[in-house]
Amino acid sequence: MGKVVVGLAAGCAVAACVVAAVMVGRRVKRRMGWRRVLRVVEELEEGCATPVGRLRQVVDAMAVEMHAGLASEGGSKLKMLLTYVHDLPSGNEKGTFYALHLGGTNFRILRVQLGGQRSAIIGHDVDRQPIPEPLMTSTSEELFDFIAAPLKVFVGKGDNVSELSKLGKRELGFTFSFPVKQNSFSSGLLIKWTKGFAIEDTINDTVGTLAVGHYHDEDTLVAVIIGTGTNACYLERADAIIKSQGLLTTSRDMVVNVEWGNFWSSHLPRTSYDIDLDAESPNPNDQGFEKMISGMYLGDIARRVILRMSLELDVFGPDSSKLHVPFILRTPLMAAMHDDESPDLREVSRVLKDILEIPDVPLNIRKLIVKVCDIVTCRAARLAAAGIVGILKKIGRDGSGGVAGGKARPKVGSQIKMKRTVVAIEGGLYTNYTLFREYLNEAMAQILGEDVAPYVIIKVTEDGSGIGAALLAASHSASSVVDTVL
Ligand code: ADP
Ligand code: MG
Repeated sequence: MGKVVVGLAAGCAVAACVVAAVMVGRRVKRRMGWRRVLRVVEELEEGCATPVGRLRQVVDAMAVEMHAGLASEGGSKLKMLLTYVHDLPSGNEKGTFYALHLGGTNFRILRVQLGGQRSAIIGHDVDRQPIPEPLMTSTSEELFDFIAAPLKVFVGKGDNVSELSKLGKRELGFTFSFPVKQNSFSSGLLIKWTKGFAIEDTINDTVGTLAVGHYHDEDTLVAVIIGTGTNACYLERADAIIKSQGLLTTSRDMVVNVEWGNFWSSHLPRTSYDIDLDAESPNPNDQGFEKMISGMYLGDIARRVILRMSLELDVFGPDSSKLHVPFILRTPLMAAMHDDESPDLREVSRVLKDILEIPDVPLNIRKLIVKVCDIVTCRAARLAAAGIVGILKKIGRDGSGGVAGGKARPKVGSQIKMKRTVVAIEGGLYTNYTLFREYLNEAMAQILGEDVAPYVIIKVTEDGSGIGAALLAASHSASSVVDTVL
């Protein structure tokens, strides 16, 4: 009997030791896992670092690449498409103008009425219609036939409603969000298709944004779109274009579509997550800049980091498979987590649970997830700022004396005469993601420095693709017969 008791006691002791050992083992494992998760975030932070010195290198690279892209076709990853838009709206336009915008899945027609003297843009009625699926891959003729009927009805309706329209002409502008090589202002040749259409266009949507910006403020020389995708255009000096392409006999400035989404430089801070995202994308080695900064991708970069964290630590639960789904974490959801100011990070919990199907994770992990969103967005916004300053540098508006001026920064009180320059910005990422916007604005000020920054003004510009096209139709009304060539 005594032996049995002793045996039982010994057995219990062994079991207790085993349980204790298992528990200690788990704790040690979790602590190590926690350290590895911390390391994942630290490495991300190091990999995404954008100190001002590095941003200035990106600025220089952007300006140099722009130069190279203008100098010869294929001279750079930047296409630097000549748009043949010389006349940006001045604000003096009068009359009724129409715009047709072809988006990825729908088209819209709008009417703009202008009264001169930088008048408010009167009533822009919009007719929006989906494009039937088969037409997206059909010929341009079929597509235009489809659009012609509603266009006629819309224009017909408008002719009764306004006195102004009776006074003025009717002109049609046409925007399209895909890269097009222009042969003249009113005709274009599609060079690459990014959304599923096969048709040519006349006005890129960034150019429309520049037009709207310029209508309201003639110091607007640069336009940037930062939404699902990203792009920029600017007004290039005539002599810079003549010098590099030997094409033009005119002495007029021209809008150049940078197609900056494809910008690349070894100075861009690239992580393994970017490399994987690119490799798994339908267009590897393309749109490298866009993949680091636009709304299409930011959420997915964050998802990749969180997935990596989940592999290091088991608190994400056994079923975190949704984390494996590409693009499931869309950028607005990421922004919602990033913006979460509740003490227990409720919004982070909600997104993890509802979208990624991850059960409640400890507060520390939620904090790290917010940090991941911050790192990814901060890098994106700061790189976008460097891109903008690169364009300003190309046109000599960054206070450094332009591309030829080398890397030296002007000393305080130096002789460079600064002119006021406005940058028009459009796009849902910039307008809706407050922290992105703040990081971008802050980085612009840091790169430009306190002497130059006050001369550069960022203005949010609405609806460049629609109203901008109508405004360009207005400023080109003498020659704006819209025709297209294949
Ligand atoms: P598009 O670029 O498709 O023409 P928008 O300019 O409206 O359209 O931009 C839409 C993009 O902006 C979305 O794809 C998303 O990435 C981003 N976005 C929209 N709303 C938010 C938000 N609240 N927070 C962060 N990003 C947002
Ligand atoms: Mg857009």
